[in-house]
Amino acid sequence: MKNNILLKTNLLVSVILLVGFALIATLSYRANYNASLVKIKQVSSLASEGIYYRLSTMLTKPVNISQTIAHDSLLIKLLEEEGSRYQEAGYQETLRKYLEAYKNKYAYDAVFLVASTTNNYYNFNGLDRNLVRGEAENVWYYDFLSSGEEYNLNIDNDEVAGAANKITLFVNCKIKNAAGQVIGVVGVGVNIDYIKGLLQEYEKEYDVETYLINEQGAIEVSSIYNGHQAVDWFEVTDSENIRSEILNWKNGKTNWDIWMPGDVQSNEKSYLVVRYIPDLSWYLLVKQDTGALLAELNEKMLQTGLLIAVVILLIIFTITSVIRKFNVRMTQLLEERQELFKEATEQIYDNIYELNITKNKAASKKTKLYFEALGAKDLTYEEFLGVVAAKQIKKEFREGYVNIFDRANVLRQLDKGNNYLQYEFMMTENGRDYFWMRIDAYIFYSAFDDSVHMFTYRKNIDAEKRRELESQRKASTDEMTGVYTKKATERIIDSILCGKLQGNYSFFIIDMDNFKQANDLHGHIFGDYCIREFAEKLKRFCREDDVIGRIGGDEFVVFGTISDEEGARRKAARLCQKLDTVCEDSGSCWKMSVSIGIALVPQDGRSFAELYEKADKALYQTKARGKNGYTVYEEKEDHGR
Ligand code: GH3
Ligand code: MG
Repeated sequence: MKNNILLKTNLLVSVILLVGFALIATLSYRANYNASLVKIKQVSSLASEGIYYRLSTMLTKPVNISQTIAHDSLLIKLLEEEGSRYQEAGYQETLRKYLEAYKNKYAYDAVFLVASTTNNYYNFNGLDRNLVRGEAENVWYYDFLSSGEEYNLNIDNDEVAGAANKITLFVNCKIKNAAGQVIGVVGVGVNIDYIKGLLQEYEKEYDVETYLINEQGAIEVSSIYNGHQAVDWFEVTDSENIRSEILNWKNGKTNWDIWMPGDVQSNEKSYLVVRYIPDLSWYLLVKQDTGALLAELNEKMLQTGLLIAVVILLIIFTITSVIRKFNVRMTQLLEERQELFKEATEQIYDNIYELNITKNKAASKKTKLYFEALGAKDLTYEEFLGVVAAKQIKKEFREGYVNIFDRANVLRQLDKGNNYLQYEFMMTENGRDYFWMRIDAYIFYSAFDDSVHMFTYRKNIDAEKRRELESQRKASTDEMTGVYTKKATERIIDSILCGKLQGNYSFFIIDMDNFKQANDLHGHIFGDYCIREFAEKLKRFCREDDVIGRIGGDEFVVFGTISDEEGARRKAARLCQKLDTVCEDSGSCWKMSVSIGIALVPQDGRSFAELYEKADKALYQTKARGKNGYTVYEEKEDHGR
């Protein structure tokens, strides 16, 4: 039971703590989540802006250089002569040196020149090859020539540099003569690993993904892809739905941003910042997923959860140990108190036993020893009750004893709300001498073992009971005659009549005839003597179990069983005869006789009062008839003799 309370307390505390912590954790999770979303927006925008300006600065230079070369009058002049001089070693050397000087000066990967008259391709090594129309690797050149652009950018393999698979961003610029005719194309090649490095630097610093995509949506540069791989960003990122929105955005001064839905199951999404770079006709995309954020928050939640679990365990541990200590202390105190109480009670009572009524057995060590002492070691409580009744209880008390203390009655009494039983009886320990004993029994429900228990306190009350009975006897006995007083007579007769009747009864009122004379002639002392003599005779001539009482000065009642009315008449006649005598003492002599009035049970009534009234009427008839006789009451008076 105690453990149950402890368990319930712990459960309640755990639930309260869990709910409290869960609420706090949820609120803080939401707050952190929202704050993190704001942070993602700020970081992505910041990264986008940074990359945009760094790129612009970075690209401005090769574009400028490319344009500067394209407008160089020396180069224009040389190019105008290219058609006629390209085979001259000196001419080729001049161009080579020119290109090499630029390459070295700006540390470019490549600086090249294509003369549109011959379509000869020159670089820092001199004349490299002729760009034949129709060949795949030369498409960029012919496309550019036919486009209206002054310059363009494209990413290509820098085969000329001899560095296989090195990806280079080429800035190509048309060279025009004074007449505005295109006479060649000059280009500088910048290793885009540099741009890649820039993107990677930002990705690392801001934990974002960055892409440069062209107007068709293909990735030109990213930390993973290169332009020559022709990977479509919208396909790769599964975001076809925003293709047109992004590609229609041409504003390079400000950015366009959107929350992209992500994996529904993991509740992830991405924030995308788009900028258009007019110089490159590319888009800069900076994307940050909430995945990392969610992972971080989830980890924090997990840590919080673990922390909460540890805190709850600590609290439960503390509560458990405090309550346990408290219980131990309480139990000690309780035991001390019980011991004191027991000692005190044992001084009052001779024996205290405890019984488990529900389980029908002894419930304490001492009670078990008592069972054993009576040879009832393995018996149930109910069997034991029978043994005690048979061995120790005086016959007339056995039934009452068993009826009061049997299990059915004990449980019934507790059901009725009565938890106290008492029984006084006579018992023996040696089989000969009987003494009075009182049992006080307390019934209670013990939650400890879910049973009804009963404590019985036995006290030897022999001395006090005998005193009590003696004083009771005295109170109900007429001092002069030793028969019952009027009150006692009335009480005893009524108690017999209210129980189950054992056949027929007669109620006699016996009045001494002319008793006044005895007093008048011989004095009161003699009168008293005559009354005593009369009572002695009455006792002698009546049956032992007849109730005899003095209900007036010279008026007595005799109540007892009879076979029938005839029996009552016989009894009355015999009494009249026996009491028709002479009373003598110290020389005084008085002729004694009696008049009797008779009422019968059950026909004349079932109470002292009813019987008295009718017997008195009958007595009156006897007296009226001349006394010394009897009358049985009838509605129409009957004359006895
Ligand atoms: P009846 O034949 O009609 O019964 O007349 P009675 O003379 O017997 O008179 P009654 O029964 O009316 O009166 C009873 C008398 O008994 C009256 C009273 O003086 C006397 N008496 C009552 N108690 C005592 C007593 O304790 N001692 C003595 N000596 N006389 C008593
Ligand atoms: Mg009289």
